[in-house]
Amino acid sequence: MLDADFFRRWMTAAAASVDREAERLTDLDSAIGDADHGSNMQRGFAAVLTTLEKEAPTTPGAVLTLAGRQLISTVGGASGPLYGTLLRRTGKALGDASEVTGAQLGEALRVGVDGVMALGGAAPGDKTMVDALVPAVDALGEGFTAARAAAEEGAVATTPLQARKGRASYLGERSIGHQDPGATSSALLIAALEEAAEGAGDE
Ligand code: ADP
Ligand code: MG
Repeated sequence: MLDADFFRRWMTAAAASVDREAERLTDLDSAIGDADHGSNMQRGFAAVLTTLEKEAPTTPGAVLTLAGRQLISTVGGASGPLYGTLLRRTGKALGDASEVTGAQLGEALRVGVDGVMALGGAAPGDKTMVDALVPAVDALGEGFTAARAAAEEGAVATTPLQARKGRASYLGERSIGHQDPGATSSALLIAALEEAAEGAGDE
């Protein structure tokens, strides 16, 4: 079972990973965007950790809805509202249970990813975060390791695509040949789930 501490560990691992990879995310965004994705993600997840500490939510759903709300209010770029929606919708779908199963998390994340697609209008293949998130959710039934691998594969597979959504789409064919920054950060977010699960034995 996954409790509020698991979800706190997820957000903590995501923040650490985004910190480590901020420069890479910004480099990717400088190729097909405006070179702010690393700093957007860093600022957003740092604020998430601060608010989680301050408000100390006690259920999985409350951890994620609070994190999502914080991302929406902290991150100005397109990715803030999108990641915020992902976490907020996922959190709402988890309801107020004090613990959830991996299967329930999978179903809730599906709702969250559907929310991202509804808000941003992107479908798989449009060269966005959706290209990492959808395969990850599809693979989650096989466990966090499978989800991480699927997300990483999905992110890498954005390289030959032409962007059809977001800032990169303004480049048209010139967006081809670069990995999408948002798909890359989504793979980090999913990898952090696996780290959170590994941390469970430490307590
Ligand atoms: P901005 O584009 O406003 O500078 P960021 O650089 O933080 O915001 O995030 C860019 C990432 O957001 C892209 O790489 C892409 O993955 C994602 N993104 C942008 N627009 C959309 C959209 N409509 N749907 C899904 N993801 C999107
Ligand atoms: Mg940007």
